[in-house]
Amino acid sequence: MNKKKLLVSALLLTFVFTACKHKSQATSGTATDSTKTEKTVTPNETKNTNAQILGRPEVPILCYHRIADGKKSEYAVTPATFAAQMKILADSGYHAILPAQLYDYLVYNKSLPEKPVMITFDDSRVEHAAVAAPILEKLGFKGVFFIMTITYNKKNYMTTEQIATLAKAGHTVGLHSWDHTMVIKYKDDADWQKQAVEPKKKLEKIVAQAVDYWAYPNGVYDHKGAAELSKHFKLAFTLISKRDTVYPLQTVRRMLATEGTPQGLLKSMRRTFGKKH
Ligand SMILES: [Zn+2]
Repeated sequence: MNKKKLLVSALLLTFVFTACKHKSQATSGTATDSTKTEKTVTPNETKNTNAQILGRPEVPILCYHRIADGKKSEYAVTPATFAAQMKILADSGYHAILPAQLYDYLVYNKSLPEKPVMITFDDSRVEHAAVAAPILEKLGFKGVFFIMTITYNKKNYMTTEQIATLAKAGHTVGLHSWDHTMVIKYKDDADWQKQAVEPKKKLEKIVAQAVDYWAYPNGVYDHKGAAELSKHFKLAFTLISKRDTVYPLQTVRRMLATEGTPQGLLKSMRRTFGKKH
């Protein structure tokens, strides 16, 4: 090979290398951001302080309620919209994580898959088992289903068997109170027993595993409620509220996934939770 040919090959190689680099950067999306933030954090054996927990980049968490046609409400999306929103997450390289992973990430700095997202469902509607779970499963996603236990086996709500099946399939089942009374209205220990402690025990029997996660009815919490929940649940989920500085694990933020384009969903996820993941 003469000198000129060598030079050309070297240039070509450089070009190919640069092109690949650009391509991988482009396809990994926000990965460069998360590498930047993660590099100083290593997994630890001892629990993070509240300040450290609050300092971890937030994971986008979506919250769905009704999945049905013909409902005009910010608490409803059509099955077609839900399917399209899940598809864009899968196509964009998102990985659906579960609360146990989020807990280890927040408390012990354990790593998460690239582009993590959590997909949650409130109110134990029957379409969560009938419509949502099959769509998730086809894409290799797992979901988190928060049950208000007064609805067991009622019309339009999941049966206890459907709830058990979700848990068996590897989804996470959490508690959403007994009858959807907001935490700020629980006056005494009897209320806590009725809304949280007893329903948790019953739900654990149904799913044959621990129920460690809570979603606040209406997303509404107060400091006292977060403190009480910390005795019974590893994590509790709000909607878009400010996190409690003493109980960050009991005030994990979620956003409502509303009717709209799949691209719109990705945009609001970034707007709400930042671009660190
Ligand atoms: Zn609810």
